[in-house]
Amino acid sequence: MDRLNGPPHLMIVSDLDFTMVDHEDPENLSLLRFNSLWEAYYRQVSLLVYSTGRSPTIYKQLRKVKPLLTPDITIMSVGTEIAYGESMVSDSDWEHCLNLNWNRDIVFQETAKFSLLIPQPDTEQRPHKVSFFLEKPNSSEVIKALSERLEKLKLDVKIIYSNGTALDVLPKGAGKGQALAYLLRKFKAKGRIPLNSLVCGDSGNDAELFTIPEVYGVMVSNAQEELLQWHAENAKINPNIFHSSERCASGIIQAIGKFTLGPNVSPRDISDFGKCRVNFFSPGYEVVKFYLFYERWRRAEVEKSDQILQNLKSSFYPLGTFVHPCGTEQPMNKCTDTIERLYGDKRGKQYQIWLDRVLTSQVGSDVWLVKFDKWESTGEERYCCLTTVLLTTKQAEESFTWMHIHQTWLDGLEAKDQSVWFL
Ligand SMILES: [Mg+2]
Repeated sequence: MDRLNGPPHLMIVSDLDFTMVDHEDPENLSLLRFNSLWEAYYRQVSLLVYSTGRSPTIYKQLRKVKPLLTPDITIMSVGTEIAYGESMVSDSDWEHCLNLNWNRDIVFQETAKFSLLIPQPDTEQRPHKVSFFLEKPNSSEVIKALSERLEKLKLDVKIIYSNGTALDVLPKGAGKGQALAYLLRKFKAKGRIPLNSLVCGDSGNDAELFTIPEVYGVMVSNAQEELLQWHAENAKINPNIFHSSERCASGIIQAIGKFTLGPNVSPRDISDFGKCRVNFFSPGYEVVKFYLFYERWRRAEVEKSDQILQNLKSSFYPLGTFVHPCGTEQPMNKCTDTIERLYGDKRGKQYQIWLDRVLTSQVGSDVWLVKFDKWESTGEERYCCLTTVLLTTKQAEESFTWMHIHQTWLDGLEAKDQSVWFL
């Protein structure tokens, strides 16, 4: 969070499964819409927080198969583990808080007496979370009996039932809501309370997020009955909670618009940037826009016209250099020839590009350095390059010139055949 100079403009705290990630959307279109919105307008000044029931192990598995952006903060295992940044440095103060009056062994022994509770895999059993599968028809009776049992033993625990399948026992002070409250206290102590916060969820373990004062909330259109019921019983009069009419990440975008939290038109929804009236001039927006164009160009979803090629040529500085991740260099004017040749080579294929961690620094009066991860996938294949672009502004017109592009493979994400990658 130290990369921000002041309070975050917006903090999004989102659940993953069936909130940020739509498992019924094989092309991940709503997630990609969110990604380009976030990277174009928010990344530089805002905070992205994931709050998931997943343990670190299965959270990392999800990131390998879905185009999820890198969050600033990851809250895992139903609010029992908090980690910061790309390297996921864990918050040991939070662990200490949760240790108070928590006895995992007793919880384990007592829950074992309930034959209807089927333990989840070992990866999901965490220091402050004991997890089971429990079928819906028996859930109410089991939860009631288990709470009475644990209460009698004077254990400070919390039982959370989600998606009609998963039951978690946590320390009383844990959970997604408590973890968020803890983060907000930390921000407050540093004078960095976000100007706006939006929480997003779809199931029972997300309900707590909506109880935190002064946050906006979106229950995505596909929210589970258990969350809607909780809302009807507990929060119906709260005008800051919205049930979107769109699914998953598209519902999050809808909520940004509904509560006027900032720009809410994803660059991915703009079909023709030439005709678009969005008046936004920033280096981050420029790179997001360019790569959306590049994806459409290779899928032949934009027209191949002399005008477009001319515009492309004029935005690349002819004497600049492109350094391919394999180390070869070529002048920028040759890049436009290659781009021209690649028109339509991904036609009809599930070819997608998204950018992650787009961060900009001004290095001269009209010169910017933009760094980002450029991801590319064709079906199951995924590659990623750390990309650095040097941009300058053109005199008297609101446009950028690409001076220099340098790419290096991210570990484990290099293409074996280097010729499949360009830009
Ligand atoms: Mg969920």
